[in-house]
Amino acid sequence: MIRFEHVTKRYPDGTTAVEDLSFEVAEGELVTLVGPSGCGKTTTMKMVNRLIEPTSGRILLGGEDIAGADPVELRRRIGYVIQQVGLFPHKTVLENTATVPQLIGTPRARARARAAELLELVGLDPAVYGGRYPQQLSGGQRQRVGVARALAADPPVLLMDEPFGAVDPVVRERLQNEFLTLQKTVRKTILLVTHDLEEAIRLGDRMAVYGSGTIEQFARPAAVLGSPATDYVASFVGADRGLKRLAVTPVGTADLEAVTGPAGSAAEPAEHAAASAPAPGGHPPAGAEPTVALGASLREALAALLQGDSGRIGVTDPDSGALVGVLTPQGVHRALRRAQLQEA
Ligand code: ADP
Ligand code: MG
Repeated sequence: MIRFEHVTKRYPDGTTAVEDLSFEVAEGELVTLVGPSGCGKTTTMKMVNRLIEPTSGRILLGGEDIAGADPVELRRRIGYVIQQVGLFPHKTVLENTATVPQLIGTPRARARARAAELLELVGLDPAVYGGRYPQQLSGGQRQRVGVARALAADPPVLLMDEPFGAVDPVVRERLQNEFLTLQKTVRKTILLVTHDLEEAIRLGDRMAVYGSGTIEQFARPAAVLGSPATDYVASFVGADRGLKRLAVTPVGTADLEAVTGPAGSAAEPAEHAAASAPAPGGHPPAGAEPTVALGASLREALAALLQGDSGRIGVTDPDSGALVGVLTPQGVHRALRRAQLQEA
C-alpha cells in the first residue's frame, strides 16, 4: 500500500535526515516508526503526504508514484494526526470533526451526522462533547477528536506523528488500547511515529527501528525483541527485552497443562474439566482464581498469576469461556522459549 524505494532526504542546509530508505507497508497494516529524537521519523512521514519532497528515490501509494499526484487530492486519501492535534479553537468539537468532509463537498448535514458517528466511535458522546470547544476538553479528549477528525473523510491511509505523546502515561495506555480496538474495525493502513519503544511494540504489526536516518530493523515486534538485527537495535531495545517480549507473546494451547481432576483420577479432557466443578483435593484452579483467555499476552497472564497464591491460572476459550487448561510459571517460560525459536 505504501512503498518506499531508496528514499533520501537532504535539507537545503545539508542535513541528511534520511538515507536510502526502502520498506513497504501492507494494506491494513499498522507500522510504527521508532527511534530517538532527530533520527528522521517525522521527515519519513511527511514525505508520504508531500509536506516534504524527497531528494531522491520514490514513494508509491497503492502502486502509484506520489510524485505525480496532486498534493491536495493526495492528502484527501491520507488522514494526518499530530501530537499538537491542531484543532481549530474557534470551532466546536463537532465542527472540527466535520471539517474535512465539508471541505471536500459533503453536504453539511451529512458531514455532521458522520462526525457524530465518529465521535461516538472514539468514545466521546456527541450529545455531551459535540458542542464544546477544544479548550473545554482534557488532553486525552482532544487527542480522540484528532483521531475522529482524521477518520472523517474515511481515508485508506493514516499518518500519526506521536499521536499519544501529549497525554500522561495512564491516559496514554487507555488511548492506545482504544485505538487498537478501533483499528480492528476500521483496518486502515497506518504509519505511526513514536519515540516510545513500549508504544511501538504494543501498537505495531511491524516496527521500523531507526538509527540515524536509516532503518536498522524492520520486523514484527516479537522478532525485534527476540533477535535484534544489530548491536544498535539490541541496545535500543535494552537488556530487559525478554520482559518486553511478554507483551507481544500470546498464550497458546501448547503452553498449557491439562486441567487435572479430583485427586487420584487421571487428567480429564479439557471439555470435561471445564464443565465439572473443581473438586476439593484436586488441582483444578479454584473458582476464585484468575483466568485469562487464550491469545492474551503473557504479560497479562503473568500479572494475573502474580495476583493469586496458587502459582497457576486458568486459561479459557475466548469464545465459549470454557476452561481449556492451566498456565504455570513453567508454561510462561516455555511460551517465551517457543516464541524465541519461532523467530529464530
Ligand atoms: P524525528 O522526527 O525522528 O525527531 P526529524 O525527521 O524531525 O526527526 O528530523 C531529522 C533530522 O533532520 C534532524 O537532524 C533534524 O534536525 C533535521 N531537520 C528536520 N527538519 C529540518 C529542516 N526543515 N531543515 C533542516 N534540517 C531539518
Ligand atoms: Mg518527529
